[in-house]
Amino acid sequence: EDLYGVNRWGAGYFSIGENGNIQVSPNHRKPEVGIDMAEVLAEMKAEGIQFPAVIRFHDILRSQVEILNETFRDTIAEAEYEGQYIGVYPIKVNQMREVVEEILDAGEPYNYGLEAGSKPELMAVMAYNDNPDALTILNGYKDEDYLTMALLGRQLQRKMIVVIEKFSELEMLMRLAKKYNVEPMIGLRSKMMVKSTGKWSSSSGDRAKFGLSIAEIVNAIDYLKQHDMLHCAKLLHFHIGSQLSDIRKIKEAVIEGARLYAKLHQMGVPLEYLDIGGGLGIDYDGSSSTTDSSRNYSTEEYVADIVYSVKQICDLEKVPHPNLVSESGRVITAHHSMVVTNVVGEVSVTGTEFDISPEDGEHVLVTNMRELVNAPEMHPQERYNDAAAYKQSTYEAFKLGILTIVEMAKIDTMYWQILTDIEQSLDEDTRQIQELDDIGNRLASQYLANFSIFQSAADTWAIGQLLPIVPLQRLNEEPNIRCSIADITCDSDGKIGKYIEHNQISENIPMHRLKKDEEYTIGMFLTGAYQDVMGDMHNLFGRLTEVHIFSHDEEPGAFYIEEIVPGHSAEKVLEAMQYNTDYMAKVVKKSIDREIRQGKIPPREGVRWTDFYERCLAGTTYLSSGN
Ligand code: PLP
Repeated sequence: EDLYGVNRWGAGYFSIGENGNIQVSPNHRKPEVGIDMAEVLAEMKAEGIQFPAVIRFHDILRSQVEILNETFRDTIAEAEYEGQYIGVYPIKVNQMREVVEEILDAGEPYNYGLEAGSKPELMAVMAYNDNPDALTILNGYKDEDYLTMALLGRQLQRKMIVVIEKFSELEMLMRLAKKYNVEPMIGLRSKMMVKSTGKWSSSSGDRAKFGLSIAEIVNAIDYLKQHDMLHCAKLLHFHIGSQLSDIRKIKEAVIEGARLYAKLHQMGVPLEYLDIGGGLGIDYDGSSSTTDSSRNYSTEEYVADIVYSVKQICDLEKVPHPNLVSESGRVITAHHSMVVTNVVGEVSVTGTEFDISPEDGEHVLVTNMRELVNAPEMHPQERYNDAAAYKQSTYEAFKLGILTIVEMAKIDTMYWQILTDIEQSLDEDTRQIQELDDIGNRLASQYLANFSIFQSAADTWAIGQLLPIVPLQRLNEEPNIRCSIADITCDSDGKIGKYIEHNQISENIPMHRLKKDEEYTIGMFLTGAYQDVMGDMHNLFGRLTEVHIFSHDEEPGAFYIEEIVPGHSAEKVLEAMQYNTDYMAKVVKKSIDREIRQGKIPPREGVRWTDFYERCLAGTTYLSSGN
């Protein structure tokens, strides 16, 4: 039984093996060959890598690039579509150099290119995408330097297309093109009428942040004509939002975009490319539905809808089939990386033992609560109502100074005992009562995990994005505790509030009770798109150590760690905040020396304290597991 939904969101890359460990099959051409996660963790331990860490499966990146490109190729051939697919990877989704290099390498046979949305991203793609047959698409708001850089790209024979997001960019580009005497390749981004749904739906509609209205597009054409540059207009672009969950919206957008392409072509605009942006979704919750965290279509269906819709409209309108460009980022990167970390403790409302035995002269509230403890025969609703009322009265009484602190502690302990008892006694009927059914959530423990949600799962905190979480051991053992995951930041928002459990989303998740002296590790999956790079340093928790894994072709299931990228040290994050850590170490040393001089710290001990401070500066920002 797939409690954590691994087989559903795993997309063939992740499954649970017979030994109860997560298996990773990173190569889509060899789905039967699995890497045992436990072996990966063991090797990381042997290398002295501390938690939390990011694990990247480079073969998954390569697989996703191949799947997307080959699906387009095959569908284009099958549909007798006359254009080609020439995709680009938008580096904002994950700008890590190793990720970009891997994608370009895997994409070379398909002339797969890059997309940039800002000046620094453009500088990166300028250096990395030097395939003259691949596209470089330039989105985002632009200044003179950005546009001049694009003209430099043209001088270097790159197919660098400047997508005009607002009219003034076109005017600036014309001026610079004349100044440098370079012909640009121009794309026009259209504000789309289709209204998409989901967390990123504001990317389309009249009030979208980017793109030209229909009137502005027509004006842009006139403007290009006046400047004798209409032949530079090569591409029509649209993007209606990321993580599109409903295939019907995608189809609607493609029909709108294809119709616009056709009409522009008929007006004499020599467009060669139709760029459908990003949006191809990921089934994070494994439900294959239109929830915000899922998609109700396959990649094959997505591609077929695009190819066949564009073909049909172009044939009807009697215009050539354009080359198809897409800017999929999420689907290329999401599966390839995960965060692994250790649980460092448990916060439990029921876990404290306290002697509740009666005492002479105790307050009647204590006696009343004890009677409820010993009344399992009561109807659960009635018992719960009474317990809740006593708890409220207890609080009032404590504020008035009527109850002692020991009486408070007894009442609190008994209250949670009663709730535990009620929860265990619920049957199908009584579970229908929302208040009683919710008791389970209130009794759930919090497992403290050694990571920061702000650094490693920014969208989970910001927009409630769901990411699958699974314990990485004991998966063939029945879980015996319900808990939620809290991070180690000093922030009450540092919690995960949504989990996959069977076919639904729960507020907490079944896990295993922690054992003394046994490390309990969890994995947060599908973090490769956006989460890997969008995190911040709240509480000064820095970037994680990264482990890059490649599978071995010769031996089934074999892998090797190709690279370890150390995470940020405390020193590094402090320096990013303008601290001078040499100065800090000197100040602390000076204070220690003063205590030594005054005879309060023995000299040898003083040296140890100085070393300790310096070692911590060079060390991890996360909780150290003493490796
Ligand atoms: N292209 C543009 C213009 C975008 O704004 C985005 C992200 O929202 C993308 C591509 C990538 O989209 P996705 O990650 O959904 O593939």
